[in-house]
Amino acid sequence: MNCELLEAQLAELPLYWYHFFSPEELEFSDRIRWICENECPMYGKSWACPPGVGEVSQCTARCKGYQHCLMVATLTEVSDIANIPEALNTRHDHEAITNTVRDLMRQQGIEPYILSTEACAECERCAVLDGEPCRLPERMHPCVESHGINLLPLLESLGIPFQYGENVVTWFSLLFYN
Ligand code: SF4
Repeated sequence: MNCELLEAQLAELPLYWYHFFSPEELEFSDRIRWICENECPMYGKSWACPPGVGEVSQCTARCKGYQHCLMVATLTEVSDIANIPEALNTRHDHEAITNTVRDLMRQQGIEPYILSTEACAECERCAVLDGEPCRLPERMHPCVESHGINLLPLLESLGIPFQYGENVVTWFSLLFYN
C-alpha cells in the first residue's frame, strides 16, 4: 500500500488521530469477552457481537492473520456525556469516517477487515435473532471489544488518552490489511 498517499488523504479527514501498527501489538483478553457476556445488553443480539463473531481465540487468529493494522480515532463533544443516547448518536459520524478510510484503501486495491464501534445498527432487527446469516456483511463492522481486544495497553504505550475530556466521546476503529 502507498502509505504516503493514504496519510495525505487521512490528513484531510476530521480524525483526531491515526496510527499504523502490527496486530501483534494488540492485547486479546478473555476478560473483555466476559464483560460482553455479562454486562452488555447486545450480547447474542447482533452478528457484530459475541458469540456470533466466534471465540476470542478465533478472533485473535483472524486479526493476527493480517500483517498490518491502521487505527483511526475521532472525537466528538457532547453537552453531557452521561446522556447515553446523545453520546451513542455520535458513532454514526465515526462510522462514516471509518467507511471513508475503507474506501481510500479500496482505491489502492486493499480490502480491510474492519472492527469499529458498538453493535451493528444497519438493520432494524438483526438477522442473528432469527438464526439467519448477516444480510449486509460488506457493511457490518464488528465492534473492537467483540474480538476481546483491550486497546488500553497500546494506547497507553503511545501516550494516547482513551478519554479525552469530560464531555468528549472518543471512538476508535481498527482496519486490518495485508
Ligand atoms: S447488517 Fe443487519 S444482519 Fe448484519 S449484523 Fe448488522 S444488523 Fe445484523
